[in-house]
Amino acid sequence: MRWYKRLRWRLIGSQFLVAVVGVTVMIIATQMIIINPAPRIIRAQLSQLLENPAQIAQTEALLLLDFRNAVFASVAFAAIAAVIAGVGSSIIIWRTLILPLRTVAQRSQRIADGRYGERVDVPTNSGEAMIKLVTSFNQMTESLEQIEQQRVALLGNISHELRTPLTGLNGYVEGLSDGLFEPSEETFAWMMEEIQRLSRLVDDIHSLSRIEAGQFSLDLRPFALQPIINRIVTQISPQLKEKKVSLNTQSENGPITLSADKDRTAQILINLMSNAVRYTPENGNIWLTVKTKANQAIIIVKDDGIGIPTDALPYLFERFYRVDQSRARATGGSGIGLTISRHLAWAMGGNITAHSDGSNKGSAFVLTLPLSQ
Ligand code: ADP
Repeated sequence: MRWYKRLRWRLIGSQFLVAVVGVTVMIIATQMIIINPAPRIIRAQLSQLLENPAQIAQTEALLLLDFRNAVFASVAFAAIAAVIAGVGSSIIIWRTLILPLRTVAQRSQRIADGRYGERVDVPTNSGEAMIKLVTSFNQMTESLEQIEQQRVALLGNISHELRTPLTGLNGYVEGLSDGLFEPSEETFAWMMEEIQRLSRLVDDIHSLSRIEAGQFSLDLRPFALQPIINRIVTQISPQLKEKKVSLNTQSENGPITLSADKDRTAQILINLMSNAVRYTPENGNIWLTVKTKANQAIIIVKDDGIGIPTDALPYLFERFYRVDQSRARATGGSGIGLTISRHLAWAMGGNITAHSDGSNKGSAFVLTLPLSQ
């Protein structure tokens, strides 16, 4: 950035201009009024004094008066010029600084009132600092607008998600009271299922809000990965058996010690493994591979299930996102699991990425976590 475009130099320059104009006019005025007319006046007074030496007191008084008038005139000229320069530079500062700042202040007030569509035109002749300020202000407003849109969408999503199990429950209760359903064990089991879905959803939303707000603690310490994997495999085996899905586990670089939160790591792996089972048809396969690279452990959960369309991959970790809205809801998914998992992985210094060659071509989720040094 050129130095003269900086606000600091512009302000110093405008003050300097006023001083320079004042001093210059003063010099010109002194040259013109004192030096030029003064010799004439002084000479006339002196020659009168020479002719009439007795009038010395009167001539001295006249000389002093002339001198005072001349000094006053030059100072007055300089002062008028400095005032004009001052007014000129104030107008420039007003237009290039105060006006855009005032607009920013007014728009901030409107944004505070909830009008997020407000933007300020970027001033072209106000210097780089002002352009930066207005551009940052507009970017901030845009982010606020996006956050507001996400908030509205989130509220919409939550109410939509809550409506599904509630509608189901409502149907059963109405059916029971109208005598359409028998108050049998089966009916109550269906109702219980809807209630469980509802409470699972509420739990998920609660954890998501805490995690997104950073209101959760991590217990980062070294632990062996294999026992956690064994635990998860035992936990998930009823689902595997039920769907006749086979699980192949493989550890490429021997025992691994992670530096992460044990329970949170287990939570992520359960999410990835149960997704793999959920989105893999009967008689499918799941591969759980563990290896290391540099100072990271790489845990890959791969399946040969329904896969993920390429255009859905970028949205997979967004809140409430499901590739197939209706199918996933029927299977009980809320679309929050991966969002939570990714936040947890990030908080532990790792990451999760999703890979798939497309629909029905299987999927792979790669979790990286730091190794214990
Ligand atoms: P959900 O509870 O719906 O499974 P997630 O956040 O865990 O929520 O997953 C989001 C979406 O990602 C799922 O609804 C599904 O469409 C897709 N997905 C996740 N894992 C897999 C997988 N292994 N195979 C295919 N699709 C998957």
